[in-house]
Amino acid sequence: TRRYSIAAIPGDGIGKEVVPACLAVLQAAAARAGGFALEVTEYPWGSDFYRSTGRMMPDDGLATLRAHDAILFGAVGDPGLPDDLTLWGLRLAIAQGFDQYANVRPVRLFPGVASPLAGVDAAALDWVIVRENSEGEYAGHGGRAHRGLPEEVATETAIFTRRGVERIMRFAFRLAASRPRKHLIIVTKSNAQRHGMVLWDEIAAEVARDFPEVRTERVLVDAMAARMVLKPRSIDTVVATNLHADILSDLAAALAGGLGLAPTANLNPECRAPSMFEPIHGSAFDIAGKGIANPIGTFWSGAMMLDHLGEGAAAALITEAIARVTAAGLLTPDLGGTATTHAVTEAVIAAIEGRNA
Ligand code: NAD
Ligand code: MN
Repeated sequence: TRRYSIAAIPGDGIGKEVVPACLAVLQAAAARAGGFALEVTEYPWGSDFYRSTGRMMPDDGLATLRAHDAILFGAVGDPGLPDDLTLWGLRLAIAQGFDQYANVRPVRLFPGVASPLAGVDAAALDWVIVRENSEGEYAGHGGRAHRGLPEEVATETAIFTRRGVERIMRFAFRLAASRPRKHLIIVTKSNAQRHGMVLWDEIAAEVARDFPEVRTERVLVDAMAARMVLKPRSIDTVVATNLHADILSDLAAALAGGLGLAPTANLNPECRAPSMFEPIHGSAFDIAGKGIANPIGTFWSGAMMLDHLGEGAAAALITEAIARVTAAGLLTPDLGGTATTHAVTEAVIAAIEGRNA
């Protein structure tokens, strides 16, 4: 039996509801697929931990996590604490500490889920957005001068390194080459951002020579936003910078039914450190504690985790079960239904176990 050690960090708000639900789904998929076992350790880190210790995670938190094969994360965010403290104190500390430079965001429309775009079906929306996750506009460099004075200036410097751009391009080309359509859109803004984005374009052209089977297009980020709405069928794999992909992937999630469904993987592709899997939504304190959070984005993230661990058959059991449950119309309120988190979880587990239609 193959054994995987999983760190589960529910975090704050609805993270505490969707992560336990996902763990039950993962165990059902492992039991059904057979051949492997998941050993889960839960860490109660986040805003409550901060209130009692003054830290979002212990000083040796990264060393503790490094011993695991993968991390399942919920969300952080608390109405009583600054968002940059909770985000940098836990989620970004892990993603940057483990150099999880490839952020993979699949987008698809599940049966029974309505897109806000008219006439869009599952065939029209089957994308993967690759987000550079370690540098660019979120490198954290900048400064402020003349605070509070009329001549105050603030800078926010985007940093693009040859190494950082080349590794995300190679990752995106490999992913595009593995998909049936072998098409990659390289999102850019090199007309206006004429240093970093020109380096981005040059490296894309260099890497493209190693992947002759992948068709590429360069599209400016503003035009890309319009294209996602107007010509969704023309899109397959997309690579974009940290900021551009952040914005485009929220638009993509909305087109595919909303934030509650969307998953993400923060990968260290060379497996030199654990990778982290999480829904893209936040702690949603407006609905926390009510038992109505949509757990599907977390289930799908759990499936991506199994895929990453090499358990593709068990991962497929989960995504197929999700599709059966949405097709049957069992939806949480964010999707227009009345089902609870618990009801959706039980139905997905039943579908994995082959107990319902
Ligand atoms: P949010 O994603 O928490 O919520 C946005 C809206 O979508 C809310 O109305 C919420 O109820 C709804 N929603 C989100 N996920 C849902 C789900 N699974 N089921 C049903 N409805 C869902 O974003 P926000 O309101 O901008 O932020 C709330 C807090 O979360 C903030 O503190 C923010 O900093 C934090 N946040 C954290 C992460 C993260 O941990 N990765 C991501 C985004 C926001
Ligand atoms: Mn975002």
